[in-house]
Amino acid sequence: MSQSSLPRFNDTAQAFQHLSNAELRRAVALFSLIGKPWLVQVGSAMANLALALRIPLGWAVRPTVYAHFCGGESIDDSEETVAKLAAHNVRTILDYSAEGQTDEADLDATCSEVLATIHAADGDARHAFAVFKVSGLSSNALLEKVGKALAGRAALSQDDEAAWERVQRRVRTLCEATAAAGGRILIDAEESWIQDAIDALAEDMMSDYNREQVVVYTTAQMYRHDRLAYLRDMAERAEEGGYACGVKLVRGAYMEKERERAEKQGHPSPIQPDKASTDRDFDAAVAWVLDRLERVHLVAGSHNEASNLRLCELMAERGLDPGDARVAFAQLLGMSDPITFNLAAHGYNVAKYVPYGPIREAIPYLIRRAQENTSVAGQTSRELDLLKREQSRRNSA
Ligand SMILES: Cc1cc2nc3c(=O)[nH]c(=O)nc-3n(C[C@H](O)[C@H](O)[C@H](O)COP(=O)(O)OP(=O)(O)OC[C@H]3O[C@@H](n4cnc5c(N)ncnc54)[C@H](O)[C@@H]3O)c2cc1C
Repeated sequence: MSQSSLPRFNDTAQAFQHLSNAELRRAVALFSLIGKPWLVQVGSAMANLALALRIPLGWAVRPTVYAHFCGGESIDDSEETVAKLAAHNVRTILDYSAEGQTDEADLDATCSEVLATIHAADGDARHAFAVFKVSGLSSNALLEKVGKALAGRAALSQDDEAAWERVQRRVRTLCEATAAAGGRILIDAEESWIQDAIDALAEDMMSDYNREQVVVYTTAQMYRHDRLAYLRDMAERAEEGGYACGVKLVRGAYMEKERERAEKQGHPSPIQPDKASTDRDFDAAVAWVLDRLERVHLVAGSHNEASNLRLCELMAERGLDPGDARVAFAQLLGMSDPITFNLAAHGYNVAKYVPYGPIREAIPYLIRRAQENTSVAGQTSRELDLLKREQSRRNSA
């Protein structure tokens, strides 16, 4: 592929084709607001307070942040978003993320809901992957204990053993159903102190379901300085075990929390010393996977323009077709549309996480999106700038 046919992420007509004028105005208003750190801080605090006091928030949240970043309150409710994305060759990853559950009945309910997303995707090519967080199927306390037990630093009680059996059963149910539906499923990565248990589960599932096809994908957070080595070891174990790997590469979402905890506990931080080191390892991991596509399939989960473009260039250098089924790109709904829709227009496999669920339960997710968009100020202002350029282009057309 020649360099001239690589996507241009500043093609605003292509990027925002799916937005009506009213939706474009809403996006401009929203990104202008969340570009103001003080406002996000105050808004987040007020939303947390309203949640704690059980004050209804739907009236304020539904038509604004929720409509922008979420598909709807249920799978059916998300249909319009799924169809709209598919009309522009962007596929969906339905994301039901219940957070912080501990009750066994709630954990079972989350498992059933994720199972419903797998069934919804069955036979419907508009869906790219299913996804889940292990912390939606287990208490975090148990995952932490299991991690310590796996490292030989603690033993599990009988009750813990039984609870861990149930978690494994839930995870297996989801992977089994995905394999039966001929689909693919992503296991999100989380905080480092629960990630060892998640890694063990993910490798177990890849060993069981990635023999003929790549069904199960684990996630590697490249803001951790140990992840390139982990990827190499994981691939070696897979090679020895006779199965293939699926890997979603991301930079990582819990940096502040990780650093604070490491400092509080007097441990060395698992996080890279600076952004440049994270960027270097992310790009190195992408290149490393591209050289092993026979054994490792890739999902690149990033809003970083340079990283996405670099992946396109690396694919071109290796003579890979943009639509190679072993490589996928992914962004979150409502973020980095210029990347997503321009990739899709150039024939790359690209998908959006489409979070859905009751508004109250989506609030923590929405607060994180607002904070993330504030903390990556450069990118937010770039997105805002592109949105405004599209507004002017339409006004003068
Ligand atoms: C489809 C998709 C799926 C995702 N799944 C997961 C997941 O399973 N688990 C998860 O943890 N996150 C996940 N994320 C979030 C992701 O990890 C990033 O937080 C987010 O995408 C921002 O990184 P970026 O590559 O888009 O862009 P950028 O804006 O270029 O990078 C920002 C990121 O760089 C890192 N960083 C920033 N400053 C520093 C610093 N001083 N030192 C070291 N590193 C720094 C942080 O990871 C920060 O989030 C996902 C994101 C997407 C788009």
